[in-house]
Order: sequence, then C-alpha cells, then structure tokens
Amino acid sequence: MNGTATATRRLGASPARLQERIDAFAALSEPDSGPGVTRLAYTPLERRAHAAFTREMTALGLTAWTDEAGNTIAERAGTQPDLPALGTGSHLDSVPNAGAYDGIAGVVAAMETARLYAEHGIEHAHPVRFVAFAAEEGARFGQACTGSRIAAGLTGPEDLDTKVDADGISLADAMRAVGLEPRDVSRARWAPGEWAAFLELHIEQGSVLESTATPVGVVDRISGSTRLRLDVTGRASHTGGTPMHLRADAMTAAAEIVLLAEALANDTRHRGTRISVGKLEALPGSLTTIAGQTRLYVDVRDVDSDRQRHTAAELVERAQDVCLRRKVALAATTLADASPVVLPRQLRDVIAATCGDLGIDYRVLPSGASHDSQMVNHVVPTAMLFVPSRDGISHSPVEWTSADELAVGTEALAAGLLALDRQFRRPAPEAADGGQA
Ligand SMILES: [Zn+2]
Repeated sequence: MNGTATATRRLGASPARLQERIDAFAALSEPDSGPGVTRLAYTPLERRAHAAFTREMTALGLTAWTDEAGNTIAERAGTQPDLPALGTGSHLDSVPNAGAYDGIAGVVAAMETARLYAEHGIEHAHPVRFVAFAAEEGARFGQACTGSRIAAGLTGPEDLDTKVDADGISLADAMRAVGLEPRDVSRARWAPGEWAAFLELHIEQGSVLESTATPVGVVDRISGSTRLRLDVTGRASHTGGTPMHLRADAMTAAAEIVLLAEALANDTRHRGTRISVGKLEALPGSLTTIAGQTRLYVDVRDVDSDRQRHTAAELVERAQDVCLRRKVALAATTLADASPVVLPRQLRDVIAATCGDLGIDYRVLPSGASHDSQMVNHVVPTAMLFVPSRDGISHSPVEWTSADELAVGTEALAAGLLALDRQFRRPAPEAADGGQA
C-alpha cells in the first residue's frame, strides 16, 4: 500500500542469539519455586531482567532509562529527532511457573531488531524506542498490564494502594520495595504527540498459527477481560455431626457456580465468550469441617465489550440464585475490567504488506489474551504480530516457540518498523480507528 516493496528486506535475525537471550532471561527465576520460570511483577528478579535489557541496549549505543512505573525504554536516535517515536517491545515479568516466552519473546525480538539496525547501519527518520514493560501479568495483583496501563494514563497513584497480592502487599508497597516511587507514576504517562506508532511481537498463546502452519499472525483485535472475586459465606461445622439438610456449605455452592460459569460460556448466546474460575480458596480448609467460606476468582473474556459485561453481570445474578437456594451469602467484587480493543486497520495493513514483501505467510487473527498493546493503543496507534505457540500452550513450563519461528517473526518486526517509519514520514496519517470495540 505504500510502495515499500523495493526497500523491504530481511536483515538476518539470528535464531542463536534469540535463543541465547530467551535462555538468559529464563535463568532469572525464583529459586525453589517449582518448574518453569517464576519472575513476578515488581520483584527484584523482574528488575534484574530489566537491567539485563538495559545492558545490551546501552552496549549497542542506545540511550536507556527506566520510568516511574518501572518500564524500561531504550531509544535509538532518528535522523529527524523532532519526529515522534516508533516503539516496539513487550514485558519481562511472568506468572508463577511460567514458560520462557510469554512477553519475553517480544523483548528479545526488540533487542535483536536493535542489534540488526546497528549491524546494518540502518537509518530511520523517527527515533525508535525499544520497550520492556513492567508488571504485565495480572497473576500477582489481579490487574494485568500495570506498566502499560500507567503509560497509557489508564491508572495512576490513587489505584496502587488498592491492589494487593496474596501476602497482603499492595502494588504501591511492592513498587517501593524495588526502588520505584508510586506517587510519581503519572510522570511515566506517554504524551500522544510523543509517539507515532507501536508494534508488539508476542507468542500466540493459542493454536491457530500452528494448526494452519502459518509463521506469523497479524492481530486485528484483543479480547477484553472482566475479573471478579466471588465470596461465598456459609457456616463451618462438623462433617460428621451436621446432617446434610442442615448445612450451609460454601463448597457445594462454589462447585455449582464453577459449573454455572462453564455452562454460561458454552450456551449459544455466548459464542466466543471464555469464562474461567482459575482459583478457588476454601476456609477453614479442613478435611473434617464443612467449608464455611469459599472465594472464587473468575475471568470473563470476550472480543465483544457488551457481551463481556452482560455475561459477567448474568453470572453474578445467577450465582446469587444458587446461593439463595443453598442458604449461603454471596458478595461479588470486580477486581479489574478492560474493554476489548480493535487495533487500527492502517497499521495492520502496513504490517501485512511487509510480511507479503518479505515472503512471510501470515494470517489475521484475534487475541484471546490481553496485552500491553491493548493499553498503549489508547495513546498511540498499535499493531501486534504473533508467532506460533507449540500446542497452543502458554502460562506453563512447556510453553515453547522455536528459535527459527522467533527469527521469522523478528524479521517481520524489524522490517515492519522500518515500513512504519516510511509510512509516518508522509503527510499526517489518519487517526487510529478508536480504542474501544
Ligand atoms: Zn504476555
């Protein structure tokens, strides 16, 4: 669409270098935490990963800094420094017992891109910023994409005291513990005029690319997510002494709610909706005591924002009926809520054309998982590239993408950014087609 065919070429992304970086980051994992990689948001280990990113980028001559939210940005100067920046990157934190690729793939691809630009002496008009976002995973505090949310101005100091981890440590305290100042996070906000476009590479975390033998996915939309905590309160009592008809059992009510969630997602009105109860706690947690309390964590995802919210509301309403019938009480709390996002068509077309020019087969597909792209698209037009995930598995130690597949994605990323550089030098591009679906 923009006459980039003659200029677009492969730069020789190195599978070996990509793998080396993947392995180096994977080695930064909590000791004695079981299989896979555990490097949670706002921990010293996450900071060490950011420091490793900074070291390689500054060695390449880039200027790097860490913002108040803990995001690390490394800038390669453009030939027209007054132009807004192009950006690429992803995150370096993980869920507990994660694989080595979620988030990391996009950061190592960004690092390889910086390396290739340096090796080939490539010039770009816009400054190019390579970004490692902080705290993308919602595993620790219930809220995903904290670093990019702050960058997009979607959350600020006022929210950071209200999110707590399983040990009762607030997001704000966790940030302080690693040397960040939560009161100053507003300074990490990206001004819209400061950025021209953003492009994130990520593993698919699904099996569409693998099952169709397609090396690259171009993402058109990202699911939204509503996260709920459901507290069921019954009455703890002796499992032997309490007859079945006199129980107020919080466990059986929770069991019914779990199955209700599954049935709701599976009914024909909710095609494409995904509801999961990924975590369930029971108190007092004794073999010989009927559970007096249960706590369910529910994640409702959809690419349709109305259906997402209606489904969450319907689940709570029907769970209330279950609890009423079972003579237990229910309290529902919304932990986090993010709208689905349609990524701007214009950027997607540039990236698709770049893949075409490079002879890389691609397909357009939605993302079921949430990403930093979803957040930064609020302030800068954003595109996303997927590389295949073996068996579609992610958030697991067996998560895997081959170094060759990662290298192909990196070629698309490196050439895609240069195509955007040419595209955005032209007279004012049209605005993104909105952040909300
Ligand atoms: Zn991720």
